[in-house]
Amino acid sequence: MDPAVTDTPTDAALRRAAELAREFVAGLPSRPVHATVSLETLRARFGGPLPEEGEDAAAVVDALAANAEGGLIGSAGPRYFGFVIGGGLPAAVGADWLTSAWDQNAGLYVIGPAAAVAEEVAGAWAADLFGLPAGVSVGFTTGATMASFTGLAAGRHALLREAGWDVERQGMFGAPELPVVTSDESHVTIFAALQMLGLGRERVTRVPTDGQGRMRADALAMVLGDLGRPALVCAQAGNVNTGAFDPLPPIVAAVRANGGWLHVDGAFGLWAAADPARRHLVDGVGLADSWTTDAHKWLNVPYDAGLSFVAHPAAHQAAMTLGAAYYVETTGAERDPYNWVPESSRRARGFTAWAALRSLGRRGVADLVARDCDLARRFAAGLDGAPGVRILNDVVLNQVLVRFDDPSGDAALGDARTDAVIAAVQADGTLWLGGTLWHDQRAMRISVSGWSTSASDVDVSVAVIRRVAEAIREG
Ligand SMILES: *Cc1c(COP(=O)(O)O)cnc(C)c1O
Repeated sequence: MDPAVTDTPTDAALRRAAELAREFVAGLPSRPVHATVSLETLRARFGGPLPEEGEDAAAVVDALAANAEGGLIGSAGPRYFGFVIGGGLPAAVGADWLTSAWDQNAGLYVIGPAAAVAEEVAGAWAADLFGLPAGVSVGFTTGATMASFTGLAAGRHALLREAGWDVERQGMFGAPELPVVTSDESHVTIFAALQMLGLGRERVTRVPTDGQGRMRADALAMVLGDLGRPALVCAQAGNVNTGAFDPLPPIVAAVRANGGWLHVDGAFGLWAAADPARRHLVDGVGLADSWTTDAHKWLNVPYDAGLSFVAHPAAHQAAMTLGAAYYVETTGAERDPYNWVPESSRRARGFTAWAALRSLGRRGVADLVARDCDLARRFAAGLDGAPGVRILNDVVLNQVLVRFDDPSGDAALGDARTDAVIAAVQADGTLWLGGTLWHDQRAMRISVSGWSTSASDVDVSVAVIRRVAEAIREG
């Protein structure tokens, strides 16, 4: 590069950031997965009054990395099994750096043409992988929460419009009744989306679930039959505890008979469609009206990256569009991203998803899903049969629920023992996983969602869990 370019504050800051980032990523497999510094330390390091004078860019980058040291979780590494979290594929992280350097505004085609087209293409590739109908519209959101907000807003628009009400103009006061039906185990963010849409978090009929957390389709059909008017129905592909899938074919049939709108939250589970061996889990998914997924979970794209798909583009756009006079009217050939998401100005999220999908290809996405599911089974097999250890779920996807029973059989003592094992595993630092409340009992929750996790990472992790559990058993 031209020395006039390489001698600037910008270049120095970028080079320093690249060095620090490379060191961090290279160290991920060997550093502790948990944080090693306290809240007080982090506040003291980052804190103090706002400086009066500014500082050199590269020095600030250095200071940031020094302050964050020990306060960074190894969630991008191979042994993070908490929540449902992915890492960052190499191509996606590279694309993310460029996204920042390019600093495109992905609101309008005219201020970010490449960003708009990357979204268009990555969205179509993902829709194809999931087997969604031709012509679905797509919006790139911060995550699954806002993707569900978007899909449910489109459903709210369509159902109220059929009832003669323009909700975008008139709001919800005085609107016709719009029933909402969820699963008893719908993800908490579905209720968050409903609360933001004026539909109410508790003004909802919750359909009971079965022993794996799947919505009971017979119960849904009864609920819808009793309503006598079209409802907004939320089903789930991938229960956040068990990974189980709501039975979509009978759910689709019940919603069609009701004339309602079916939204499917597939934040991570929708990716099962990309694996030929697991596609059957989402049979019927293409017949829904709107879908949510994340790219920052199982596709292993850096945050933030959610996708909202809608089978009725007019409803999608009507629910989201801003319609300000100064927004450039496009000719119809180009796609303005702001029409499909809640925001106007925003990050160009399509670049990372495009890069991840291009680097994996169709086969690579299938392999990633299949590998993580196989590793989840390896976890279950490695833990099952150890003294006092029980696997609570059918391991159909990437989620494993583990229970550590008390020898007395007492449930409360089993809860305490399970929490103690989880806490000891977290403190060990070799891996990280969390706990959950599953059908009234505490359980360890293991999620295998990373691109870099190997069989030996699982074996090392199983050994730690077994050792810790044994130590607690012996008191
Ligand atoms: C993670 C998750 C969400 C929320 O996703 P965010 O990207 O955190 O907004 C919603 N639904 C399910 C099933 C999830 O697993």
